[in-house]
Amino acid sequence: MNKQFIAGNWKMNLTLDEARDLATKICGTLANSDVVDVGVFPSYVFLNDICGILNGSNVVVGAQDMNNENSGAFTGEVSGPMLRDVGCTHVIIGHSERRIIFHETNSIINLKIKAALSYGLSPIFCVGEKQEERDADRTNDIVGSQLSCGLESLTAEQVKELTIAYEPVWAIGTGKTASPEQANEVHAFIRSAIESEYDNDTAKNIRIQYGGSVNPKNAKDLLGQPEIDGALVGGASLEPNSFLEIISAAAGL
Ligand code: PEP
Repeated sequence: MNKQFIAGNWKMNLTLDEARDLATKICGTLANSDVVDVGVFPSYVFLNDICGILNGSNVVVGAQDMNNENSGAFTGEVSGPMLRDVGCTHVIIGHSERRIIFHETNSIINLKIKAALSYGLSPIFCVGEKQEERDADRTNDIVGSQLSCGLESLTAEQVKELTIAYEPVWAIGTGKTASPEQANEVHAFIRSAIESEYDNDTAKNIRIQYGGSVNPKNAKDLLGQPEIDGALVGGASLEPNSFLEIISAAAGL
């Protein structure tokens, strides 16, 4: 098992005051702890503030998406260099909400991952099947093709910079969680796919988070699975106590 990485995806939630308060509470509680890696992913407009609050702490800050271009006429978009400028070290790429609502394809996601790495940002690359794909027994096909397209032409050295988040779409924001065994099985599949494409060392060391309705009650069982190296948390990351309890569950493994 790798060092656990617990990341909070705040999505399009919170006011600026609430975001500042949440970051301050997380940072205050985790002051000297580095047993678990922790990250928060606020909205773009709060990144500068939250990076300021968490600067010098053990909590990393990232964006929820980025454009693959460096700069230019892309109204409404944010680039990797801009994220670096405000102090981000991480970025979520390929979240199912980006894939489904904003029609992001595997090839766009591949471009974004390459761009993020070229700007020194560490991507959390999200993959996961929809309910109907699981029902049709296509989970491994779908996740396998998201992986191979998303990682196309990346070297093992580049892949080592990534975290992968397995997020079954049917478990995101639904209160329906994959069982620890179901999640572990897909994580093992992801690791074996990385091993076949790259090598054993890359597969063993890459962190694979689980995401989908993780909360303080189910965190210990999920995170205790041998192939699960952390969690990407949506709803439960918006409240300091529940996020901190998930981090404690990871720390206690
Ligand atoms: C997510 O959006 O990545 C997520 C896992 O959300 P939730 O924890 O709310 O299911």
